[in-house]
Amino acid sequence: MTSPVDPLKPRISDAVDQLADELEQLSLQIHDHPELAFKEEKAHDWLTEFLEKHGTRVERGVGGLPTAFRATIPGQGAGPTVAILCEYDALPGIGHACGHNVIATAGAGAGAALARALGTLPFAGRIQVIGTPAEEGGAGKVRLMNAGIFRDVDAAMMIHGRGGTRVWRPTLGIIKVKAEFFGQATHASSWPWRGVNALNAVIQLFLAVDAMRQQLRPDARVHGIITNGGAQPNIIPEYTSAEFYLRALDLAYLSELLRRFQAAAEGAATATGCTVKVSPDPVVHEPMRRNATLGTLFARNLALIDFPEDPEDGEAGYGSTDCGNVSQALPTIHPYIRISPDGVPGHSREFAEWARSPLARTGLVAGAKALALTALDLLASPEALRQARDDFHRGGPP
Ligand SMILES: [Zn+2]
Ligand SMILES: [Zn+2]
Repeated sequence: MTSPVDPLKPRISDAVDQLADELEQLSLQIHDHPELAFKEEKAHDWLTEFLEKHGTRVERGVGGLPTAFRATIPGQGAGPTVAILCEYDALPGIGHACGHNVIATAGAGAGAALARALGTLPFAGRIQVIGTPAEEGGAGKVRLMNAGIFRDVDAAMMIHGRGGTRVWRPTLGIIKVKAEFFGQATHASSWPWRGVNALNAVIQLFLAVDAMRQQLRPDARVHGIITNGGAQPNIIPEYTSAEFYLRALDLAYLSELLRRFQAAAEGAATATGCTVKVSPDPVVHEPMRRNATLGTLFARNLALIDFPEDPEDGEAGYGSTDCGNVSQALPTIHPYIRISPDGVPGHSREFAEWARSPLARTGLVAGAKALALTALDLLASPEALRQARDDFHRGGPP
């Protein structure tokens, strides 16, 4: 079956190829200047300059977030909006170990190539490139959703670098939770029996969580750090705190994890004579909802540009993303594109190196092409968008 988009696709692919050197440069520049959540000022400026230069209409600092942006490639009047999402924040201490420099430039490259190749899109509606700050810990997309940036978006898509190309992989929901223990300070040597040791409570909590883990579903994750373990050894700690992420494939099991975590924290407090305060973060990261229609279109475009999917490696577990929240609000995909060899873990120094490699350039170019082509497929076919909406309402297997 031919579509009115088919003859346009080679032109868009060529436009990405023509931009490839500039995109790689931009990707390396962002990689060389890692900026943390909500502080991605340089990346914001460079990406918006690039998008403007190539003919998109850019709005800076949208949704009340100074480092967010939106670039629009208009079509023929009223119609649907398809969004391509960029991330560009780095990780503390290990820089672009999640490869968001590749996400940013693949998304911006898709928008720039569409604008260069077509000027105005020959279909009703528009394509937007939305710059979404603070994926690593700040849930920037949730803020942008609350500010209404996704209100008129009919479908959203982005790519994420990984050691293998997979259109669909689940992501885990997260509840972030803080536990604080309150005891009583005293001299640790001369009056220890007058103290209540809040460090013992926090240690007890970690032991309880370790025991709990044996009975958790295999995909669930509970992991934490002690953020306050006392002041110095000669004082019985009167205050300690720990932060945990509770992760699961579905929201119901997340609530169950929180219930069990709460019980473990209360048990630790009781056992040590402390009191406890458990504070879950109000922002819950939601798991990705699958959209088969969007996924199939994306996979077809990957095949078209001769960048096929890899088999599931079966080795790695799942991560999480604030893109999950977008996927629970509207049809969304978050495909993974190979930018490293198999088995290189994300958030490692090794992955940070691969995020600036020739393989990352190849992934960036393929990602930009597949995003641009898939976004255009959706504008060209109201039927495909309708199917994507149907998929969304049916929900998908996790
Ligand atoms: Zn990450
Ligand atoms: Zn990431």
